[in-house]
Amino acid sequence: MQSSPLHYVTCVPDCDYEVEGRDEGSLVDTMATHMWEEHRLPVDPLDLREMIRPTHRISHRETNASSSAESHVSSRS
Ligand SMILES: [Zn+2]
Repeated sequence: MQSSPLHYVTCVPDCDYEVEGRDEGSLVDTMATHMWEEHRLPVDPLDLREMIRPTHRISHRETNASSSAESHVSSRS
């Protein structure tokens, strides 16, 4: 049961830093802090909010893994 979906926001293209979570406010907060601490980039929280994406990649991978595990179990029984 997942009431709110996972989201993520990535840092600048040169940086691998990525924040993931369900609370957009804390994603923005964490990323803004990282950008300032690591890159000295002052970012507008509103801009960061626009950069937040749903984590389709990761949830898709999880779905695949669980469905293949289920089919494995059902084929054995
Ligand atoms: Zn960074």
